[in-house]
Amino acid sequence: MAHLSAPSKSWVLMSINRILIIIGGGIAAYKAPELVRAFKKQGISARCVLTAAAAQFVSPLSIASVSGDKVYENLFDLKDEAEMGHIQLSREADAILVAPATADLIGKMAMGVANDLASTTILATDKPVFIAPAMNVRMWHHPATQRNLEQLKADGIRIIGPDEGDMACGEFGLGRMSDVDDIVSQMIQGLKQHEHATTASATINSALNGKHVIVTAGPTHEPIDPVRYIANRSSGKQGYAIAAAFAASGASVTLISGPTDLPCPTGVQITRVETACEMLEHVQAALPADIAVMTAAVADWRVETQASQKVKKNADNAAPTLTLVENPDILAWVSQQSGTQRPSLVIGFAAETENVSEYAQAKRIRKGCDWIVANNVSPENGIMGGDHNTVDIFTNDDQDKWPAMSKTEVAQKLVVKVSDYMRKHPQ
Ligand code: C5P
Repeated sequence: MAHLSAPSKSWVLMSINRILIIIGGGIAAYKAPELVRAFKKQGISARCVLTAAAAQFVSPLSIASVSGDKVYENLFDLKDEAEMGHIQLSREADAILVAPATADLIGKMAMGVANDLASTTILATDKPVFIAPAMNVRMWHHPATQRNLEQLKADGIRIIGPDEGDMACGEFGLGRMSDVDDIVSQMIQGLKQHEHATTASATINSALNGKHVIVTAGPTHEPIDPVRYIANRSSGKQGYAIAAAFAASGASVTLISGPTDLPCPTGVQITRVETACEMLEHVQAALPADIAVMTAAVADWRVETQASQKVKKNADNAAPTLTLVENPDILAWVSQQSGTQRPSLVIGFAAETENVSEYAQAKRIRKGCDWIVANNVSPENGIMGGDHNTVDIFTNDDQDKWPAMSKTEVAQKLVVKVSDYMRKHPQ
């Protein structure tokens, strides 16, 4: 258990002054006044919303007297809506804590149900949300609850506890709401992290805001005849994640994608192409750009002459001969442009199965790009088509080795590295 004393200087520096506590209907609701007092000790005022069930466990009057504020209970209380709508209620707080978070409230949050003041307020917020679950051990372990918790985690909601111990119902196990001081310290810790992340992303935004980024992604399909083509196993996931991460950082992103099943990321301008030649054409049309990230697994060769009709088996069953010609190298072409047609940062990818760093460095020099992101795509690594990646980044003067992480995290880290570079090399 964390013992909280007077607020430390770094806490005082935080811009967290007021939180909203949504009190759910569980036996642990009796700890709500203690929770309010513990936040107050840290210089954070707490306004409270009670669900109808919570009001059976703790009196609104006792909460109001410790919080020194009105306690909100009813969505349809017109006087409250006139004074303070549920939207304003959720926005005026710097963060929301749901404690105790019952299985019912967790389920509603996971589904986006909004049928009372508590659930409506949670759905309307644009602030960080924390929950401190409390319920019977079997309810906690139930697949439905665990499924809902996974959804909440994916939605960015942070979960504090629960603890293991004796329960009010006589059983023992996980499901007790965490100690009040633990909830307060973990929430403050989480808010500090959130504040750092927000500051970092604001810095990234300022370096990339309005920059034009071209991203190529996916495989290319090189037709043999109207029904057959040469392709590779690229899923496009890494390139789409990179396009999404740049767009989220305020850049204007043109994604030129070979055939994939992936939806276009939010805020990204997509052009879907099939062949390497089409991809080159669209990259040329998209220039000028500040940054180009070429993640596409462009086919090295295409069939010289595409058959206009389906190639048939002939009488003696002799296999047809395909004459291949080399495709244009889009990365090399972009890297070799000059003046305003040359993006100030050109990043290539190197998918290798052996001697990864050696081949990648040689590729960076041969193609004339500024950075190469190398990944080992041997089938046993599961990178092609998978959700994770392990990459090394080579520039002309350094090499970064990143541990295995999700493709989304690789994309976000790459955007941070690019934004640092853009800040140091302003145009
Ligand atoms: O030559 P290789 O295919 O290994 O190079 C990989 C890098 O070059 C990737 O960034 C890929 O997008 C780019 N490339 C390209 N055009 C090609 C072949 C590769 O842009 N024809």
